[in-house]
This record gives sequence, structure tokens and C-alpha cells, in this order.
Amino acid sequence: MSTPTQTRTKPASGSTQQQPTPPSPAQSNPSVRMGDARKYQAWVAKAAKQPMVLETVDLGPLGMEEVEVKVEHSGLCHSDLSVLNNDWGMSQYPAILGHEVIGRISAIGPNAKGLKVGQRVGIGWSSGSCMHCHQCMSGSHHLCPQVQFTIVGHRGGFASHIRSHWAWAFPIPDTLNSAEAGPLLCGGITVFSPLAMHAKPTDRVGVIGIGGLGHMAVKFAAAYGCEVTAFTSSERTFDDAKRFGAHHVVVSKDSVAIKTLGGHFDLLISTVNVKLDWDALIGTLAPNGRLHVVGAVLEPIPVAAFSLIMGQRSVSGSPTGSPVAIETMLEFASRHNIVPQTEHVPMRQINEAFARLEAGKARYRIVLDADF
Ligand code: NAP
Ligand code: ZN
Repeated sequence: MSTPTQTRTKPASGSTQQQPTPPSPAQSNPSVRMGDARKYQAWVAKAAKQPMVLETVDLGPLGMEEVEVKVEHSGLCHSDLSVLNNDWGMSQYPAILGHEVIGRISAIGPNAKGLKVGQRVGIGWSSGSCMHCHQCMSGSHHLCPQVQFTIVGHRGGFASHIRSHWAWAFPIPDTLNSAEAGPLLCGGITVFSPLAMHAKPTDRVGVIGIGGLGHMAVKFAAAYGCEVTAFTSSERTFDDAKRFGAHHVVVSKDSVAIKTLGGHFDLLISTVNVKLDWDALIGTLAPNGRLHVVGAVLEPIPVAAFSLIMGQRSVSGSPTGSPVAIETMLEFASRHNIVPQTEHVPMRQINEAFARLEAGKARYRIVLDADF
């Protein structure tokens, strides 16, 4: 049975005609706060490719529907590195990165719903959405045209505190350890979503790239019941991939080995951000098979029309997942004990941690522990 610490509090039952609480001005309905949260500190990137520096920051008044979270742990995703380096041309400086956050709610706006001060929550790639467009109203808030990325034009989790809209702060099941749960909030949901959308437990699934996202994809796909093949460029990952649940391992740069798998996979999930032999990889798809791209490769992926037409194959992609998908993923991870493999680093070593990720040395997800 759930307790209010790990789920959203439910609306009171017994009345089908409950009146919504009218919005009230902040002055007459002040936010609830725990402890002294005026001293906010954050690791700030001033410009592209520059080391981050520790600064005191002013978060301003808490929004009516916002929660504020005192950060305990924050995973380091490759997207943090891409935003630091402005690889995607959309970074906004000064930037506070970090979007795989675990912490406890330290303050709550008067109109925030279902959460309470002191509750343990996680915040991922998105920290707000308009809540009234077609996408939000149909449960696909992550596809809202105004979705707020946590680390672009918003202050992220490599900080003492972070804020988000209440709908984007997720109660963490008690069975998940705070130190390891953070990477589920971005990397985890990003690879769980394609499985939930496109895979059956009887499917043959290939995961391309066994890094932060990829190693969680192998764990999720194995727990889902699929036959799992890991594609990795690094032979030293072979044993780890099998330990994560892969039944087979293939070298992702070995076109000859890939071609022997022609027509095999129902779903390939690509987590790499580099060019591979896409033609050979698409050739491994079974009829009705799908190449699903979550890794942010910048070069176009060439697709021959006939390789799609003849086998009725598809190529698709997706950004993280909806709030309800995130809560479902957390429940699934809790039930199957899916825990990211992490390396812990104190947050004061943030620049060394980014350099380690950039050098491809993270095994398999670095988590920065708040030390303010
Ligand atoms: P990561 O930990 O750095 O892992 C990327 C993996 O790609 C590496 O571990 C490596 O796997 C493979 N790779 C890297 N360089 C390669 C090369 N030169 N040749 C072949 N393989 C190579 O990164 P991550 O945090 O998992 O993120 C992966 C990508 O997903 C990034 O582009 C990130 O921005 C993106 N992302 C997208 C979403 C979304 O919503 N769609 C969410 C989060 C992240 P092997 O060692 O096994 O070869
Ligand atoms: Zn991420």
C-alpha cells in the first residue's frame, strides 16, 4: 500500500462536485517553506565550453504552481554536456545544468497539487508545460509546444535548489535509493518510453550504444521479457552488457557482423550521438521492425525508401516521456529493481566529472552529490 511520501496525494473522495480552489494572490496565500532557502548556490556555465563556477543565485519569488526542491543528487547526462558546449545551438547562458535530480521539497507554491514539503521527488529534462494545450490535455505534456526544458532558459539541478511545476516533480517509490534513482528521470524514461510504446515482451530488441541511456535500456528491455542484443563500440563493455541483461553483444562498428543479423530485430533503440552504418542497422530490422532514435546524432540518418517499403519498417524518435509515463517507469523500475550503475562524485568536482563523461569514461552514469 502506498504512503503519501511516495505518491501524489489524492483528491478527497465522496463528492463528484468538488469546487476547485480559486487562485489566490501570493501575498494572501504564501508558499509553505521548510528551513532557510534564501541562500541558493549553483554551478554556473557562463559561456559555451567554459568551466562552471560556483555562484550564489537569486531564484526570485516561488511561482504559485511551483515546488522548490533541495537537491541531494543530480545525474550527469550527455545532454548536459551538449548544452554546455552548445552542440545543438539552443543553449542560453548563464546556464545551470543538471536534469536528473533527486531531493526533498523545501517549499511549495499555494496552487501546487498533490505534493508536500519534505517529500522526496525527482525532476528530469522538463520542468514545466502550459497545462492547457491539446498535448497537455491529452497527457502528452512532454510534446507541449511550450514545454520548459530544465536546463535551457531555466535553472537546473547542479545547484543547492531547483524549481519545477508541480506536475513535473515526481514522487520516488520508497524502494528506490536516492543516490541511484536520479538517472531514471531522464535517461531511464527516454529508453523506457520506446519499449512501452513499441515493444512486446516477446520481441527481439537491439540497444545501440551502451552508455548512460543504453545500459538502462538493456536492463529495462530484459526486465520487459525481450530478447536483448547490445551493440557497443567498446569490447570492454561486453561482460557488463551481459550482466545488465543482454543475451547477445555485437560490435556497433562491425558492419560485417551487423549484416549477419539481417531481418532479426523488432525494435532497435539507438542511444548514440555519432554516425554509424545506418544502412546495415536498418537491414537488421524484421518485417514491421522499427529503428527508434533517442541519441542526438547531428548528421542526418539516410534511409532508403525501399528498405522501409518492402519490410513495412519504420524509423522514429522521441523526447524523454510524459509525466504519467515517468511515474509508470518509476513503478516498473521499483518492481523489477532496475538501478542505474553509477559513479558518485562530489558536486565541487563538476568540471572533472564533465571531462570524464566527454572522454567516454563514465561507467555508466556519473551522479553528482550535492555538497553545498
Ligand atoms: P553517453 O553516456 O555518453 O553514452 C553514449 C554512448 O554512445 C557511449 O557510451 C558509446 O557506447 C556510444 N558512442 C559514443 N561515441 C561513439 C563512437 N565514436 N562510436 C560508436 N559509439 C559511440 O550518453 P547518454 O547520456 O547515454 O546520452 C546518449 C545520447 O542521448 C546523447 O546524444 C544525449 O544527448 C541523448 N539523449 C536524448 C534524450 C531524448 O529525450 N531523446 C534524452 C537523454 C539523452 P559504447 O561504449 O557502447 O559504444
Ligand atoms: Zn538527459
